[in-house]
Amino acid sequence: MQPRETNTADPAGEVNRIDVGGIKLTVITCPHCQLNQFPICSGNCRRCNKPMAKEQPEDLIAKRILGELTENELIVLYLVSDGHRNRMIGEIMGTTEQVTKNRVREVFNKTGMDTRLELAIFATMHPQLLEEGKECLKQRYNPQ
Ligand SMILES: [Zn+2]
Repeated sequence: MQPRETNTADPAGEVNRIDVGGIKLTVITCPHCQLNQFPICSGNCRRCNKPMAKEQPEDLIAKRILGELTENELIVLYLVSDGHRNRMIGEIMGTTEQVTKNRVREVFNKTGMDTRLELAIFATMHPQLLEEGKECLKQRYNPQ
């Protein structure tokens, strides 16, 4: 998975995910010196000190994934991260275990995660996704 973000004002660093000991971590690659580094606070490269991105890479990733996930998938992401098994998620959402399985697979594909644990860690790093999933679930069962 190679998320790319363009920024017309400043050259934005490329946001990538790398595998470290089986856990996928977000890195941003400096467009000036190509140094891979973990999300940073200043928005400047640690080596050459040039600006890399206006937004935090984690925010860019969350925003992109928010645009890709359907409402059902956001709910699934929230329930999986909350520790629920497929059968329970199916019961909550009023579908079969198989439909839930397919939705979980879609969420894995779109987030680039491989396991439920990875997904839960990923969701913790991107709380906007959890908030959105929770909101979708609430609206589904308590429509105003
Ligand atoms: Zn640099």
